Amino acid sequence: QQVNVIPFFHDIVDRFEMNKSDNISFKRNIPNDTVMMWLDTDKITQVVDNILSNAMKYSPEGGTITFQVEKQAHRLKVSIIDEGLGIAQEKVDKIFDRFYRVDKARSRQLGGTGLGLAISKEIVESHSGHIWAESQEGQGTTISFTLPLPVRKRGNGQ
Ligand code: ATP
Ligand code: MG
Repeated sequence: QQVNVIPFFHDIVDRFEMNKSDNISFKRNIPNDTVMMWLDTDKITQVVDNILSNAMKYSPEGGTITFQVEKQAHRLKVSIIDEGLGIAQEKVDKIFDRFYRVDKARSRQLGGTGLGLAISKEIVESHSGHIWAESQEGQGTTISFTLPLPVRKRGNGQ
């Protein structure tokens, strides 16, 4: 359905902020705007939930998790920036593969199946978007995804 994604994203971050541990803080960089988009809201909620739970799960020392939304020319860009463990350069693209987990022993302790990001990728791509990761080992990770903005037709007065 068509939704204003700005309050939609705020609601998801609210829910995480309510249940976070004390050593983590959230920062929002979300424009005060109205951005109407056609989305499968359940599916995009699943994507954001996966990325935010990873950011918390793989930030054992805590730090800040920044939720950033940018309106670009033809797309909306959402980034979740953490200050956690980070991922080695040669492994960073593999995290979207099914069942791939960077550190098997550590990951087993933390729980999970290694499917979260593979499912997220499928959902984002089914919305004609892209998802990728940038990371510095020991510094943190940024997961970004984009979703195409609706094309404005000429002559509608906007
Ligand atoms: P699941 O999501 O199924 O519960 P998972 O979290 O292990 O399990 P993914 O979400 O697909 O699976 O992530 C794959 C792997 O990528 C993780 O096991 C972890 O090693 C690495 N990873 C993902 N997000 C981060 C992050 N923010 N910081 C560091 N490593 C990450
Ligand atoms: Mg996960």
